[in-house]
Amino acid sequence: MVTSGTAQPWVPLAGQSHRLALEVLLHGPLSRAELARRTDLSAGSLTRLTKPLVEAGLLVEAGPGAGDLRPGRPSQPLDIVPDAHHFVGVKITGDAVHGVVTTLRADVVASARRPLDARTPPEVADVVADLVHELAGQVPNVTAVGVSLGGHVLPDGTVQRAPFLGWTDVPLKQLLEERTVRPVVVANDVLALTEATHWFGEGRAHSQFALVTVGAGVGVGVVAHDRLLAGPNAGLGLLGHHALDPLGPPCPLGHRGCATAMLTTGSIERQVAAARGDLLSYGEVLDLADAGDELARRVVDDAGRALGRLVAVVSNVALPEVVVLGGEGARLAHVARAALDAGLAGDLDPLAEPPALAVQAAGFDAWARGAAVIAIQTYVLGR
Ligand SMILES: [Zn+2]
Repeated sequence: MVTSGTAQPWVPLAGQSHRLALEVLLHGPLSRAELARRTDLSAGSLTRLTKPLVEAGLLVEAGPGAGDLRPGRPSQPLDIVPDAHHFVGVKITGDAVHGVVTTLRADVVASARRPLDARTPPEVADVVADLVHELAGQVPNVTAVGVSLGGHVLPDGTVQRAPFLGWTDVPLKQLLEERTVRPVVVANDVLALTEATHWFGEGRAHSQFALVTVGAGVGVGVVAHDRLLAGPNAGLGLLGHHALDPLGPPCPLGHRGCATAMLTTGSIERQVAAARGDLLSYGEVLDLADAGDELARRVVDDAGRALGRLVAVVSNVALPEVVVLGGEGARLAHVARAALDAGLAGDLDPLAEPPALAVQAAGFDAWARGAAVIAIQTYVLGR
C-alpha cells in the first residue's frame, strides 16, 4: 500500500494505465468484464496492466473478500484507493486564500483559510505556500497542488492577467514550486470548477452541461461532448459584461445592467446600501429578502431575473442538458428562484425544452476543491 509517510513523486500515469485508472476513478467500482468492455482491452492485457496499479496501491479489489489478491478471483470488482494520493487545492481571492485537501476522488478531508493583506506576487505566493504547508501536514501523501484564481492563465502556469490583483505576466507556478517544492498546476477558477463539476459533481452524468457562477465576478464554463470548451480567450470572463437589464445600475465600466452590475455580490451590496444608507453583507441582503423586506426583495429579484436571462443565453447557444449554478453567490438561485425561472422562460423559444437547473453548495471550499481537481486531472491524465 502506498500510504507511507512521504509524499509520492510526481509520476503521472501514461498510456493504457491512465485510461484504466481513469475509468475506475470516474465509474468504479467496475468488474473486470465491464472494464475490459469500456477500454477495449483483452482479459490478458487487463490483468497485465492492472497488476502494477494494484501493487502500487492505486487500485484495489473491492467487495466481499476484498484484499484477497490470489489469482483466480476475477469476479472481484476493481476500485480506486481514494487516499492513495492526496491533493491540495487553493483558490486565491482579493482578500484571502482558501485551501482544501482532497482524496483522489475529490472528497475534502480538511480545509483552511488565510487572510491576504498584500497583493504583490511574492507576498501572495508566500501566503499560499504557508497554507499548502499547513494542509499538506494533515495527510500522509500529497501528490500535487492545484491553484486557481479569476484571471487568464497560460498553459505554462503564468498568470497573464488577473485584474483583481493588478497582476500581468506573473510566473505563479514557478513562484509556488520554489516555495512548496511540490508540483503545482495553475488554472482559471471557473474552468477549474467546471472540470470539478464534470468529473465529480452535478455534470457527472451529462456529456453536455454549463456552469454559471456568481460571486465577486460572473463566470461561465461549458462542457460539450464531454470536453471543456477552452481556447485562448477562456478565463477572460467573456459574459461578465453581457447586457441583461436596460434599467439596471451601471458597472464600473459604465454598462447599464450588465452581468457584473446585476449579479456580483459587491454590486448587490452597493445597490441596497445606496437605498438604505447602511452597508449590509450579501448574506444579510439575501436574509432580508427572504424575510420579506421590500427593498431587498426588489434588488434580489432583479438579480434573479437577470440570472435567468443569462442562463437563457447560455442555453440558447450551448444547448446544455443541465445548467449548474455555482460560485460563492449561488444562494441567489434559491432566494430568487421564481424571478430566475421567469427570466429564463422569457428568453427561451416557446418550443424549447428548458434545461434542468442544479444549484451547487456555495462557498470558497467548492472553489478550492475545483483547484484540487485540476491537479487530480493532471496526475491521472498525465498531461
Ligand atoms: Zn459591465
